[in-house]
Amino acid sequence: MTLSAEHVGRLRELLAQPRQRFVIVAHTNPDGDAVGSSLAWAEVLRGMGHEVTCIVPNKYPYFLDWMPGIERIIVFKNDAEGAAARAIGQADAIFCLDFNAVSRLEILRDTIAANTTARRILIDHHLSPDEGFDLSFSYPDASSTCYIVFCLIETLFGVGSISLPMAEVLYVGMMTDTGNFAFSSLTPGLFRAVAALVERGIHIPTIHNNVYNAYTEGRARLFGYAIDRKMQLIENGTVAYMSLMEHEMRRFQFQQGDSEGFVNYALTIKKMKMSAMFLAHRKFIRVSLRSRGDVDVNLFARKYFNGGGHKNAAGGKSFLSMQETIDHYIRSVREFAEEGGLGA
Ligand code: 5GP
Ligand code: MN
Repeated sequence: MTLSAEHVGRLRELLAQPRQRFVIVAHTNPDGDAVGSSLAWAEVLRGMGHEVTCIVPNKYPYFLDWMPGIERIIVFKNDAEGAAARAIGQADAIFCLDFNAVSRLEILRDTIAANTTARRILIDHHLSPDEGFDLSFSYPDASSTCYIVFCLIETLFGVGSISLPMAEVLYVGMMTDTGNFAFSSLTPGLFRAVAALVERGIHIPTIHNNVYNAYTEGRARLFGYAIDRKMQLIENGTVAYMSLMEHEMRRFQFQQGDSEGFVNYALTIKKMKMSAMFLAHRKFIRVSLRSRGDVDVNLFARKYFNGGGHKNAAGGKSFLSMQETIDHYIRSVREFAEEGGLGA
């Protein structure tokens, strides 16, 4: 990946100012890439003598608890003392990591919007980023924000500046956003980055185990239930969907992050083109979409579920009931297929 030399130059200037107050924010329902890139970038900025506050709108999943430095991240939703709002109010610059639009911050959005003087720097790999960032490192072809952060660090300071904890958290984002190096955008550059992280001392089996083999018994049983009882196939078995209501999640002691990977599972069926997961929330239904090959769920999410994401992994929201949401999905898939969205 080639970073824009002009943008790197502007970033260098910004970082060269002494003792800046920086805030790093990542998206709602932060995942391995959002958390990993935030933690690594925070360490870079702290290493330069800046004051850094990392903020996420709501809690990250429990299988990321082990990540070095994660305890310093402020969860805005649980921040009774208002430390996040204070840091945002005083920030000289706000780094926006792993999301493309301030609306993706949801409950944190207004607090960020209220600081009209801080410069906003985007570091992200989602399609169609919002305009209005003062400096933008938007690379939709990059497989993760962690990979972009790695490239920034490499360009600014060289890989020798990457500490072991930084290497570990960067690897988490590279691993999770590529489905353990199975999806698209797997470039030689990415594997060179992984090689550099191995040289910094990361132990891949341990990280893999920490992230993927750290679930509860309830989650394992919920998975079996969801696949057997809730997965439905339409469009001649080429499109799937699955839904979980709050009472079903309670039955299996659901914790945030427990449904991670469910939506992908339907795509293990040979002729499957697209899969959806509808997860009930207090105020709305969270929609997760996955697809294979040329089927573009970013487009689908934008058109039918007021969302977005990547070509093969996107999401959105529905404010209808579960049944109405499913009916809307089935109708939308039909229309999408008629317009050629599912290919031949
Ligand atoms: P997930 O299904 O893992 O929650 O999200 C998959 C992808 O879709 C992620 O890249 C995420 O950023 C994006 N995404 C999820 N929900 C939304 C949403 O409500 N709006 C937009 N624009 N993107 C979303
Ligand atoms: Mn990401």
